[in-house]
Amino acid sequence: MGRAFVYVILGGGVAAGYAALEFVKKGVSHGELCIISDEPVAPYERPALSKGFLLPEAAARLPSFHTCVGANEERLTPKWYKEHGIELVLGTGVKSADVKRKTLLTTTGETISYKFLIVATGARALKLEEFGVSGSDAENVCYLRDIADANRLVNVIQSCPEGNAVVIGGGYIGMECAASLVINKINVTMVFPEEHCMARLFTTKIANYYEEYYKSRGVNFVKGTVLSSFDFDSTGKVTAVNLRDGSTLSVDMVVVGIGIRPNTGLFEGQLTLEKGGIKVNGMLQSSNSSVYAIGDVAAFPVKAFGETRRLEHVDSARKSAKHVVAAIMEPDKTGEFDYIPFFYSRIFTLSWQFYGDNIGEVVYFGDMSGSAFGAYWVSKGQLVGAFLEGGNKEEYEAIAKVTRLRPAIEDLTELERQGLRYAVTVSQKPAVSPPVEVRASDLLLEKPLYAWHATAGVIIAASIAAFAYFYGKKRRRW
Ligand SMILES: Cc1cc2nc3c(=O)[nH]c(=O)nc-3n(C[C@H](O)[C@H](O)[C@H](O)COP(=O)(O)OP(=O)(O)OC[C@H]3O[C@@H](n4cnc5c(N)ncnc54)[C@H](O)[C@@H]3O)c2cc1C
Repeated sequence: MGRAFVYVILGGGVAAGYAALEFVKKGVSHGELCIISDEPVAPYERPALSKGFLLPEAAARLPSFHTCVGANEERLTPKWYKEHGIELVLGTGVKSADVKRKTLLTTTGETISYKFLIVATGARALKLEEFGVSGSDAENVCYLRDIADANRLVNVIQSCPEGNAVVIGGGYIGMECAASLVINKINVTMVFPEEHCMARLFTTKIANYYEEYYKSRGVNFVKGTVLSSFDFDSTGKVTAVNLRDGSTLSVDMVVVGIGIRPNTGLFEGQLTLEKGGIKVNGMLQSSNSSVYAIGDVAAFPVKAFGETRRLEHVDSARKSAKHVVAAIMEPDKTGEFDYIPFFYSRIFTLSWQFYGDNIGEVVYFGDMSGSAFGAYWVSKGQLVGAFLEGGNKEEYEAIAKVTRLRPAIEDLTELERQGLRYAVTVSQKPAVSPPVEVRASDLLLEKPLYAWHATAGVIIAASIAAFAYFYGKKRRRW
């Protein structure tokens, strides 16, 4: 048994949904595109699982969060795929791939062949067993990666009203689940080995802000230690969490968020891997010219950083999906993927966004005892990253733009003094020719201009980059 398609997307998550929409926008013909997913539902906005899905009232449920509602685009229901002649093969895993023969073998025994394959297999949650602790199968131990996990988590939450939960891990999943558990009136203790939460992204100062807020909502933190074992009752339920520091916490439920691993297994030995993912070039094409990779599983060149990165965030899944379709269907009109990393989270009433890279010196701004503050990262004389909590739409757009522009920064004290105003003003600067120096001090005197056009952005970016390069070289800053 076999079928052949021009385009096959392997994986039916965020990236697959956004790629499908882009294929349709670019005029894919009926019967040309197939999506194969081991999940039983059409692509959906995965971030909803730790947010709206876990709310005790008016919780988000499918079909409300099918892609691409997260980017204010069309909501692609199963009917939409049908109407556009896209074959959705759901609840079906791919168990082997042969990139030389251009075929995939599914768990139902079907061979699906392709002309172009887009690998969008995302990642899986790391299990405790991979760290030498057993007990993942207990009915009150939860992970959160897909809709089945989310349904299970909701059931466990409902089974222990006002109970005690331990959240293992202080990253994205840990923080978002802890907030959702508190909203469900569960008492939460977070346990993680690092000195502070979100250790890969936050500085100690930023993390302190969130930890203090969480404490004000009743969350306890046990830091600098890890889980060593569970105690179970006679039914196999976990009753206590034993930590390596010798302490024990009684529990009604456990949520584990200790990281993810990209799903590359089908392609090991067939495609070049890097940074744990499938290595792709600027066209998102792997070491086999018929195979492309997008989303969490792809390790792609981040031009601005001059290195290959693999990101685990929804925005890069959406944007890489859009780009890969253009790269495949309109290769002559499509340039290299030029992406600035963007991460966000919404927890309780808090909301933050981060753009770029968190390397170099950190310059804080705003009121860290209030509801809005942020930080810039300056490396080798250039602004390379920006973080903002509690901003409005224009302010978030401003930090996004300023990070993309990477202006030269001479004076960190002045940058700190101007704070968010710096990003807002730089991002509103009109196109200029010839290039002018963007100094923090100049910006204080200028009236903001509100017209912003994409072309202007490109021109400014080029101007500032040219200036930054020239100025940086002159000053021997890098
Ligand atoms: C609970 C949660 C909350 C999140 N919140 C945020 C957030 O607030 N902000 C943010 O930036 N990012 C967030 N993320 C990360 C974001 O969801 C991911 O970066 C994004 O989903 C990646 O998209 P993807 O398409 O690459 O992978 P996925 O969305 O994971 O999709 C991969 C798909 O491939 C399928 N698959 C894998 N292997 C096979 C196979 N062999 N055969 C068939 N199908 C297969 C999987 O079942 C899945 O359907 C969150 C993630 C989770 C889990």
